Amino acid sequence: GNRTFTMIKPDAVENGHIGAILEQITASGFRIVAMKLTQMTRRDAEKFYEVHAERPFYGELVEFMSRGPIVAAILEKENAVEDFRTLIGATNPEDAAEGTIRKKYATSVGENAVHGSDSDENAKIEGAFHFSGREMF
Ligand code: ATP
Repeated sequence: GNRTFTMIKPDAVENGHIGAILEQITASGFRIVAMKLTQMTRRDAEKFYEVHAERPFYGELVEFMSRGPIVAAILEKENAVEDFRTLIGATNPEDAAEGTIRKKYATSVGENAVHGSDSDENAKIEGAFHFSGREMF
C-alpha cells in the first residue's frame, strides 16, 4: 500500500490525546510503519515548514511546533495521503467535518492537533526528515 506522514502536534500531546488519536488512526485502517515521541528544535520546524516561510503565521507556526513533544509517524494504507486528510478534517477545526480528528481534538486553526502530508512526494520527504530506513517497518 502507499504511505503518508503524520505528526500529533504539541497541543494534542499537551492535552493528553495521543492514545485517542492513535486509536482512531489504526481503527481507520492505517498501519504504523514508523513512530516516535520527539521534539523539533526551532531550526527543525523552520526547515520542515519552509514552504510557508512567507506566510504571516510562519513565526507563530515555528514557535508552536517546537514548543513541546510531538508524535511523528509514517502510516500505510491504500490511498494513504487522501484518506488521511479526510480522517483529520479541514485545517480550521471550525470547518472540519463531524467525527474528524481535528473536529474532536484541535484547539484552533494554528494549534490543530495533527499534520497530514498533502502529496505522495511530500510524504516521502517528511518521513525521511524524521526517520532513517532502519526505523521503518
Ligand atoms: P498540515 O500541513 O499541518 O497538515 P494543512 O495542510 O491543513 O496542515 P496548511 O495550510 O498547509 O494546512 O498550513 C500548515 C499549518 O500552518 C496548519 O496545519 C496550521 O498549523 C498552520 N496554519 C495554517 N493557517 C494558519 C493561520 N491562519 N493561522 C495560524 N496558523 C495557521
